[in-house]
Amino acid sequence: MAAMTMDAPTAGISAAGTLPDADCTARLLQDLIAFKSVSGGEAPLVHYLQRWAEEQGLIADCFETSEAALPDMPCTRAKHLPLADRPTLVLRIAGCGNGRSILFNAHSDVVDAPEFQQWRHDPWTAVRQGDRLYGRGACDTKGPLVSALLALVELKRQFPQGLPGDVLLEIVPGEEDCVGLGTLTSVARGYKADAAVILEPTEGRPRCSSRAGLRFQLMFTGRAVHGTVKWLGHDALADARLALAALDDMQAAFQAPDSGECAGPLTGQFAAYPFLRPITVDRIQGGTWQGMVIEQVTCEGYFELLPDDDISRWKKRFTDELQSRLQAASAGKARCGINFTEEYTGHHTRPDHPLCVTAWQAVSALSKKSGEDLAKEGWCAFNSGCEAGLRWGLTGTPTLVWGPGSLAQAHGADEYVDISDVRKAAREMAELAIRWTHLPR
Ligand SMILES: [Zn+2]
Repeated sequence: MAAMTMDAPTAGISAAGTLPDADCTARLLQDLIAFKSVSGGEAPLVHYLQRWAEEQGLIADCFETSEAALPDMPCTRAKHLPLADRPTLVLRIAGCGNGRSILFNAHSDVVDAPEFQQWRHDPWTAVRQGDRLYGRGACDTKGPLVSALLALVELKRQFPQGLPGDVLLEIVPGEEDCVGLGTLTSVARGYKADAAVILEPTEGRPRCSSRAGLRFQLMFTGRAVHGTVKWLGHDALADARLALAALDDMQAAFQAPDSGECAGPLTGQFAAYPFLRPITVDRIQGGTWQGMVIEQVTCEGYFELLPDDDISRWKKRFTDELQSRLQAASAGKARCGINFTEEYTGHHTRPDHPLCVTAWQAVSALSKKSGEDLAKEGWCAFNSGCEAGLRWGLTGTPTLVWGPGSLAQAHGADEYVDISDVRKAAREMAELAIRWTHLPR
């Protein structure tokens, strides 16, 4: 890790005891989880957060944005729930000097919990067992959001006149529905900063890179006939099965070191994960009448890329490879239309960038481990797309992804986060904000 050449901060975070205790932290998170803020229904949660933040003395700007006011980008072109009545909230501690600004980002929406009978507890009640809190959004991303809220309140308490640079927290709608769109509303409002921290579950470690990705839609067209004479029809499901097998083969082929332009140290940051470019089908639809050969099948899913991958080149490669494998397997009989319905940019901030260096200093300052020990653990990627690519791609904002909890629990039954991890991340994020804002611009 490169040595910091800039001035050391003049103040660090005060004793840990000044954060609200575990019970208070759990109650705040329980209040947030009780709002069923499934994409499209974020407004009641956001209005609650605005009132809460104003009571804490934070500056709050709550606003709605229409699609017409946003620049033309992949996220505005993608199919998404309308933005009407889906407010964005930006909380701020105004800076009092010439230091660098920092902006935290959390999405206010969660995925639904339709499989609630698989949960041990009601997903919207947030049951606490010891240190662990269960509920939809506990780790994705209301737990990480609570870490940032506690950090801001602590900073406001410790620095009533403000830090040398602005500290912001933007709470954006729609990440689970359409990556990037919510953050774009805040960009269009004029919010920017010298660094961004995207709040997502990262096992409590700052991550300096995240995935780009594409959402694909495959449409298979056959010819329906009664099953008793099925040899006279054309089974769209048979074509879909060949395509699913081809996707598995493509995922394996895209694993090879020569499978793309990205074979450098960035690949190493993703080496902890079994798939370099995962292809995941998450929805299959087809069939109308019982007893009939299926005429139409649609498969949708995500094709996830490395941050440096050329997205248009990979769109073409995905299309060409799938079509040629499918035609070879079906003796030229399969008919498959391929659309890309969403795309998002990944990000990577160099590990020797001052933001990364400062983040590790903040973590090590509050840890029993030395900075050197932590540096040996190295930088690992966040194995998902998220809001990190938006500002990084538009304005080159150095960006980290960071938060308590794990992707292993996100979106699943019995999603949880540990309250001690939420509070630990709060202290570390406050420490990062203090150190970063004390660096001269
Ligand atoms: Zn998330």
